[in-house]
This record gives sequence, structure tokens and C-alpha cells, in this order.
Amino acid sequence: MKQLIILAFSSILYISGINFFDNDPKASAINESYEKADRLLNKMSLREKIGQMTQITVDVIGKGDNVHSSYEPFEIDNKILNKAISKYKIGSILNTSNNTPFSTEKWYNVIKTIQDKAINEMGIPILYGIDAIHGTTYTKDATLYPQQIGLAATFNTEMAVKLGNLSAYETRASSIRWTFSPVLDLGLDPRWPRHWETFGEDTYLAKEMGKAVVEGYQGNNPTIGKYHVAACLKHFLGYSVPKSGKDRTPAIISKRDLHQYHLPVFKEAIEKGAESIMVNSGLINGIPVHANKNILTHLLKEDLNFKGLVVTDWADIDNLHYRDKVASSEKEAVKLAVNAGIDMAMIPYNFKFCDYLYELVQEGEVDESRIDDAVRRILALKYRLGLFDSSYDHYEEYPEFGSKLFQNLALEAALESITLLKNDNTLPLSKNNKVLITGPNANSIRTLNGGWSYSWQGEKADKYGEKQNTILEAIKNHIGSDQVIYEPGVKYSEWGNYNNDEIVSIENAVEKSKEVDYIIACVGENSYTEKPGDINNLDLSNNQEKLLDALLKTNKPVILILNEGRPRIISSYVERSKGIVQTYLPGNKGGDALALILFGDRNPSGKLPYTYPMHTSSFINYNHKPSESASRLLGDYNYESGNDILFPFGHGLSYTTYDYSNLQLNKTQIGSDENLLISVDVTNSGNRAGQESVLLFTKDLFASISPDSKRLTRFKKIHLQVGETKKLEFEISSKDLAFINQKDEWITEEGNFEIQIHNLTKQFNVTETSTYE
Ligand code: BGC
Repeated sequence: MKQLIILAFSSILYISGINFFDNDPKASAINESYEKADRLLNKMSLREKIGQMTQITVDVIGKGDNVHSSYEPFEIDNKILNKAISKYKIGSILNTSNNTPFSTEKWYNVIKTIQDKAINEMGIPILYGIDAIHGTTYTKDATLYPQQIGLAATFNTEMAVKLGNLSAYETRASSIRWTFSPVLDLGLDPRWPRHWETFGEDTYLAKEMGKAVVEGYQGNNPTIGKYHVAACLKHFLGYSVPKSGKDRTPAIISKRDLHQYHLPVFKEAIEKGAESIMVNSGLINGIPVHANKNILTHLLKEDLNFKGLVVTDWADIDNLHYRDKVASSEKEAVKLAVNAGIDMAMIPYNFKFCDYLYELVQEGEVDESRIDDAVRRILALKYRLGLFDSSYDHYEEYPEFGSKLFQNLALEAALESITLLKNDNTLPLSKNNKVLITGPNANSIRTLNGGWSYSWQGEKADKYGEKQNTILEAIKNHIGSDQVIYEPGVKYSEWGNYNNDEIVSIENAVEKSKEVDYIIACVGENSYTEKPGDINNLDLSNNQEKLLDALLKTNKPVILILNEGRPRIISSYVERSKGIVQTYLPGNKGGDALALILFGDRNPSGKLPYTYPMHTSSFINYNHKPSESASRLLGDYNYESGNDILFPFGHGLSYTTYDYSNLQLNKTQIGSDENLLISVDVTNSGNRAGQESVLLFTKDLFASISPDSKRLTRFKKIHLQVGETKKLEFEISSKDLAFINQKDEWITEEGNFEIQIHNLTKQFNVTETSTYE
């Protein structure tokens, strides 16, 4: 018991900034786990090995009429569990049942039953995996914090470590040790319905945030401590840029783009020790990634030397046959995927994979050494997770689950993520003002959280998150109910497409605006993820536009609150709104955080982790090629192209002002592998304390491949009191300037470069060309 208290205490300290586990890395743990795995592997039959590679969803083993859903409350059907474990000897289970969260106690009972059976029958525990995406998605009363896009807007990697640790702790409290997170795909296309699951459009930001979250989940790898879980990086590789903008549709990506922008995010998280990877469900250049040996084996397992576990995405082996038509049968699909390098199949509804793979090995179509490679990785991970010593945790050993401490951390994260996009000297509002709160996002826990919140699409969040405050409730609590009038104007429809909405009464909203000083219009999107979130038009919905048009015609000042997973087009409202606040998907504490910011108790500091587009079909990323933003073509004719950007990457206002001065470089030229020291002074010149994310960009002026307009190369978040000045120092090397050239080499070419911090720039010269691994 004493030990327990010490462990619980050390986790609390860790979350508040002190990590006890950092000092105790067990470097030999990986090798040891592989040695143990090999010993076990040698004793296993082919059937047993194939079973380990098999992952089913939990509904399959639930009592119910079919495998797709279970009776409520969920109960394990012992006959089917027996089939799964005694007959097929499966190695892994995922998900919750009926798309409904369990209590920690329920999780304990379910996992204990499964593990007891697995240990008795096979002597090998089950690896249970779950999508704990922004907190422990499928556990009742778990702490749900901002989705990744909001986390990126904080530019605070320490916060990311702490939140990762919080999520690991609450996942362990649910008896689970494997999370399918973080998403390391780049949010380059605002149409893509999983844009909000990313850390935004920039490789460096995603890399830094990704490593931080992995550290939070796993602790000081390779030691997976009592409060840690295995991360699963997803979705390898190039998932986020389908040509159509729609989920799981083909992407066309050049080798250079894949390696220069998409890969480094995964590479660094792998180097950090990430335990597992999930494969991209889509296709790159016509080849489904699940069948791509070049990507899964040559690149991932050989070049990157990834030693962890490669799991498919949902039903994606079947997709090779049924969807992508590269396999003429289900069995051929299994052959293609296993030979390409997958280790575990997220099947998820039947056991056919086991029989097909058994036959394929017998027929010599799949080599048994491939099976051994997969199973070794799976068993080694089970050893590193300590599953052979204790295969489940007890929720009572996790007293901080859902605690005030964790809730406060979620609130802090939401506060740091919220991004003030526009302010005509209107915000913060006075608490004496009377406000009309309107819009479909005003009174919804669901829209604050987005998808992966209590259920896959997030549609149950108002029920399970009922103790939390919506924007409306939080503002009422904050300034008093008498100061607040609520008229939704538009509401999201209960049925049909996830983003359908309908008019309640725009006239009522307009009428009520006569009684108030300000209108707070909360618009954006309902919750969604994956295919159900596909859209055909990036504009705000017609109904929401009608509401805004009507409100903006009243002479009352309108504050536009955006609560959306991707940037919906708002260009025609910017001019006329007095303030615009982007909340992204801030989680359960988003309403409270917004109230604190709107009424000036807290100073906003979030910055956009993507470029906010001006138009519905004209997208550009901040690091675009120069030709993409050329507004006038060279030549005799006079052609002006429009502006594509509404708010740039890194944009975010504060209630105070920051002055940047004294940008200095310690040298005007650097050679190969030399470092450049950069310093800048940042002064809080306004009248409120605040936090500022200082972003350092580099720019290659001329290069053999048309250079990026600029590249985020470092960032730091600082706190400044009124009148305070801080000198920030950054160090970069010539390697930070490298790109991939025509010979597929990472290269920094000699020539002139520019450093840009805020409005300051300075040039320097690289004297030698260097290539890098
Ligand atoms: C998603 C993954 C997720 C998996 C398991 C898939 O549909 O693409 O991101 O981890 O389901 O729930």
C-alpha cells in the first residue's frame, strides 16, 4: 500500500512537472524483451503464432444477436471468448462495445475476465488497445482535454507531455496499456475530416508535439511504468492529403514530399522509442499502403530500424480486396498485407484471417520467418508492458482518475489553445455587459469535444459529459444568469449527416439582440471523424450563414466564436465582426476556458497551427513555394490573383502587445555542421501579463529545388509580466536548413538564408554545401 501511495504521488508530481521515472531508464529492457519473446516463440505452434497476430473488436465476444453490437449492459459471451482464445488463440482485442463508454470498474471486470482466460489457456496475455485520443475517450468521467489541433495551438510541448501522461494514467485506470495515438499526419488540407486530429500543417511543430506526447504516454522509454501506456503513431504514411479531400481516398505524393515533410514526424517519434505504428488506410500513388512493402518493410522496418509493432487500420486487409481491388480474394489480401510487413491485423469482426494465413504458410506463399518477425514484435511489446507479470490494473490504484488536478490541467490546456484571431478593441468584455448567446455551438458539450469523445463520432458527449459546462453554461456561471440571454437561432439536426443543421428561429435571436450589449455567436461544426465527416463545401452551413447575416445587420457588436475541427470559410464575416475567437475542439473544459478569456480573467495565447483559408477552393500552406503566392505574373499582361490566406499560420492575438527587437546572429556566415546562435528581445509593451509563443522561421533565398517560402525551425513559449523584457536564444545548425534535392539527398546548399522572428529579419550565409543522412 505504501508503495502504491508513493507511486500515485510520483505520478501527481510528474503531471505537475516533476518526472520521477526520468532518472531510471532501463536501456537493456528492449533486448531483454526480445530475448524473452524468442524463447516463447520457439515453443509456439504456427496456429498459436498466427493467433497472436489477430486483433478483433470487443463486440465480437459480447452477448448479442450479431458480432457488430452487444446487448446492453455489455457481457462477455463465454462461448465466443472460448472460440477466440482456445480455438484461434488471438493476441489482441480493441475498442469499447456498442460505441459506449465503460466505467473504470466495468473496464476492470471486462479486461480481467479476458486476461484470466488468456493466461489460463495460452499463458500469453492479450494486448488490449483503445483510441484514447484526447484523454481516455471510452471511459466514463475521464478527463477530456483539447484535441491535437488545439494542443498544437498552445505551442507548449511541456503541456503536451503532461497531457500525454494524464491520458496514460487514466487509460491505465481503465486497465488498458495501449493507445492508438498520437496522429502524426500533417494537417495540410482543411477539407480532410481528420484535420483536427493532427498537430497542424507544419512538420517541425508536429515533430516536437509528437515526441512530447509519446514521452507523456510512455515515460522514459523503454521502461513502461505503472502510469504509462504504449503509444501508436498513426497513420503511416501520407494519410492526410487525399486528392479529393475525403477520408480514405487516394493521395498523390512525390517521394520528395513524402520524405521531406511527412516522414520526419514519424522518424523522430520512432527514435524517441514509440512502441507501435498504425498503417495508413489509404493509397499513395495508386498503391494501398497496407500492401506496400517498400513503405512498411524497406522504409519503416529496415531504413528507420523500427523495432515495434505494426498494426493495420480497421478492416484494411479486407479493403485490399473489397475496396481497392488489388487482391482478387480475401486470402490474397492477407498474403499481400503480411508480406508487405504488417504484424497485427485489426480484422475486426471474424477469424478468417487466421485460417487464410495458416493456409498461406502451408502453401509457401508466406514465409514462416515473416510470421516469426511479427510475433516476436508482439510478444516483446507484451513483455515491455509488463503484461506477463500483471495483465490488468485495478482502478482503485489510480486515485487521481478524473481528479481536480487533471481537470485543471485540461482547463489550462484549453486556455492556452484558444486563439484570438481578431479584436477591434472590443475584447475582453466587461462582466457588467449583457450578452446574447446564440448559434448551434453555444450549448453543446459534443461540439466542444468533437469526435473520439465517449463514442467514435462524439454524439454521446452531451449525455456522458453532462457535468461539464457548455459555452452558455460557463458564461452564465461567470457573469451571472441575469446577464445572459440564449437563443440558438440554428441547431444541429439529431439525424442524418453529422453536419446537418436546421433553423430554430433566426427572428427570435435578432429580436433578443435588442436587449443586450453584445452578441456572442457560436458557430462551426458538429462532431465527426473519418468518412462521416467528409464534406463537399468548406463554407459554413447555409443556416449558420443566414444567422450571421441577420445578426450582423442588427447594430449590435458581434463576437464570432468558432468551434470547429477544420477552418470553415468565414471571410465575409470578418470585416463586420468585432472580435473572432477560434476555440478549435477544446474538450470538456472549453466552455469554462472561453468564458475566462472573453471576460478578461485570462489572456489568450494560442496561435494558429495552420493557414486559415480565405476561399473554399484555394488552399495554400504557409511554407508554400514562392510561385503559389505570386500575385502578379511576370510579363506584359497585368494579372492579379486573389489573396488565399485569411489568417496566416502562427497568427494569434493577445490582450497585451509584444515588441520584438534586437534580433542578433552571432555570425554572418556558417560552414558545414556549424551552429548559428540567434537572439531576440521580446518585451511586453501592453498592460497585461501574458504568454507569447515566439516562432523562428528560416528561409532559403535560392536553391536547386524551388525553396519553401519559409520554414518553422524553432519555437519557445514564454511568460512576460507587464513591461518585462526577455532575451531568447536559439541555436540552429546548417542541417536544420536541409531539403531533399533532385538526387534524393538531404542537402544544405551554400548561399544566402534569412532568419525571421515576428517582424524582424536578418540574413546570413552558408559557405559550404553539405549532405546529410
Ligand atoms: C481509424 C484509426 C483508429 C482505428 C481503431 C480506424 O477507423 O482510422 O485511427 O485507431 O479505427 O478504432
